[in-house]
Amino acid sequence: MILAQLPRFHLSIFAKSPLSLSSSHFHFLNHPSKPSGSLARTLFSLTPKSNLATVEPIPLPVSDSSELDEAPVEIPLDKLFVPPETDISGDNPSSITARILKGSNIVLSKYARDTQVAQADYVKSSVRTEDCPADGLPEFALVGRSNVGKSSLLNSLVRRKRLALTSKKPGKTQCINHFRINDNWYLVDLPGYGYASAPHELKQDWNKFTKDYFLNRSTLVSVFLLVDASIPPKQIDLDYASWLGQNQVPMTMVFTKCDKRKKKKNGGKRPEENIKEFQDLIQGFFETTPPWIMTSSVTNQGRDEILLHMAQLRNYWLKH
Ligand code: GDP
Repeated sequence: MILAQLPRFHLSIFAKSPLSLSSSHFHFLNHPSKPSGSLARTLFSLTPKSNLATVEPIPLPVSDSSELDEAPVEIPLDKLFVPPETDISGDNPSSITARILKGSNIVLSKYARDTQVAQADYVKSSVRTEDCPADGLPEFALVGRSNVGKSSLLNSLVRRKRLALTSKKPGKTQCINHFRINDNWYLVDLPGYGYASAPHELKQDWNKFTKDYFLNRSTLVSVFLLVDASIPPKQIDLDYASWLGQNQVPMTMVFTKCDKRKKKKNGGKRPEENIKEFQDLIQGFFETTPPWIMTSSVTNQGRDEILLHMAQLRNYWLKH
């Protein structure tokens, strides 16, 4: 019950965190609590829903983005993702804010280290879970609707312009594509779903084998579900998120294209509004709030933060 003793308050997702990518980030993470379980899936079931009383939001500094034209979105304390073995109950609001990854609801844990991507290699494309690499290294699967920006994000994470092109080659778009990072973990590119011109039967097939992968890949630490934040929530993304939630597949939501900030004249919403709406629509499918993070492959927003989050999930997974 990590959050049970804390007053409820709100945190800005644009709060400018003092964090940078040096090891000095973690000096304040000195309250590890009792280990809470060994399965990767427990990573996402450790922050119970809070029934805390509401108090006024705490004013926080906003980001330096010159395009921010409205008040920042605020996160209630019980909507934070607090990793296992992480205790924020003794922290005051400003030190909790300092521990939240910028543009996300993710609290950093003592496991957030070794974030650099020094090497990235395409390994193989598989059509069945059984054919995936068998070396036992932890992996993260990127999945999302076609055109969501998955290849761009993958390239941005590994800082290689064309790595993800491999997954776009004929014959590979419907495969589970493994990329080995630093020789000790994998990024996995899964087929995009909802491609308008794909025949219905083919779509069903993708569903079948990606679902099998989600349910049976023992080294899968977390799915990273990509959702386009520049448009209102789409039913197919909501269905995907709810399926993952109902099947207790660990999931992080990655909101893409967050650089598209301008409010469209025809009533289009800002990324923050679309993100909030998406969260509201899926919350019933999750026992606790899943981690989410805002990104842009144009500005590289969220890149370092995703790598820190992956590092903390991975290092925890390796230890348990
Ligand atoms: P995929 O089909 O999911 O692999 O998507 P791509 O990475 O190929 O991107 C689809 C389109 O969205 C391309 O035109 C990209 O240039 C564009 N795109 C991808 N990421 C971003 C982003 O973060 N911001 C903006 N503005 N456009 C993006």
